[in-house]
Amino acid sequence: MSSCGCSSHKLPEWFRQPIPDQRAMDRMRSLLKETGLTTVCQGAHCPNTGECWSKGTATFMILGRTCTRACRFCAVNSGRPEDVSYEEPLLVAEAVRRLGLNYVVVTSVTRDDLIDGGAEQFVRTVDAIRSVVPACGIELLIPDFQGNEGALRMIAQAAPQVVGHNIETVQRLSLPLRPQAAYGRSLGVLRFLRSLGGGMLVKSGLMAGLGETDDEILFTLRELKEAGCDIVTLGQYLAPSQGERHPPVDRYVEPFVFDRFKEQGLGLGIRYIASGALVRSSYMAEEGFEECGSSREGYCS
Ligand code: SF4
Repeated sequence: MSSCGCSSHKLPEWFRQPIPDQRAMDRMRSLLKETGLTTVCQGAHCPNTGECWSKGTATFMILGRTCTRACRFCAVNSGRPEDVSYEEPLLVAEAVRRLGLNYVVVTSVTRDDLIDGGAEQFVRTVDAIRSVVPACGIELLIPDFQGNEGALRMIAQAAPQVVGHNIETVQRLSLPLRPQAAYGRSLGVLRFLRSLGGGMLVKSGLMAGLGETDDEILFTLRELKEAGCDIVTLGQYLAPSQGERHPPVDRYVEPFVFDRFKEQGLGLGIRYIASGALVRSSYMAEEGFEECGSSREGYCS
């Protein structure tokens, strides 16, 4: 078995997926070309792109295509980012309308070059979506904003139904794999979001297959629960390339092990866990929100 998850190598059979609806794929491709928008589906080489695009769902990535950080498991380009586009929020809102979405996930690259880390652009995007498709549920998957509480407050005041921030790995692997981030800071972000109260659900996600042990995953689930997470996603790491930036896959976690993590996480009191080889932070996001039985009215500070 290869240790690389790129498309030219053979993956275990549980990665097999149905052939996507080509017409739906083409429709999404032309919408993205026309608007110049980016989805994390493409940027992160997500293995569920076919399934999600066939259903007309996508996770929009705002604030450009270039990240100021260089996490070793990530496919997104890093370097000097593009200027912030003031048109972008309206383009996202228009895409949500054209796709007929009633739930959308918006994420971004990390923008350590901006004073607010890009929080204001998230808020503008939420406002634009609400003005065009008022009933649409909105989930924001945010960077850590370097722990900037003012930026986090702005996000909460925008009243998304769900706000997520990924812890990504277990603590031992955080420094080597996310050198510009910090495990403790990510937990602090989640804790602070929870402390803001209201009906907003708090979400996080991590990957298996980067060299962690099962016990370390379980410990991380416990820490995420203690930080106040309602929803957690756990998926298989796939190396975006065989290049030096990306470590090879350490192990392919079998489906029954993912099921066991799910049971253990639910046993800890996490309200919803998506755990499986193909799970990514935004995969079936609406289901997690619905399962938690929350209101589309959102959080109001
Ligand atoms: S901060 Fe996010 S987008 Fe940037 S390199 Fe890390 S995982 Fe990728």
